[in-house]
Amino acid sequence: MQYVKANDSEDPKCPHCDAKLTKVKFKNLANDGFGKRKLIFFCPSCNKVLGFSDADVSYF
Ligand SMILES: [Zn+2]
Repeated sequence: MQYVKANDSEDPKCPHCDAKLTKVKFKNLANDGFGKRKLIFFCPSCNKVLGFSDADVSYF
């Protein structure tokens, strides 16, 4: 698998409502019980969930 950097003019699309995603909303979820913070990412247009992450983004 190869990672290819997108051009600045390319934006991902929401798989639910097809909106061009120039920004993504996220929310902290409660601690998962294993000491990790979880984030949930969702579309700012339709609020449907795009994904989860347990990456530490406490600097936001
Ligand atoms: Zn959407």
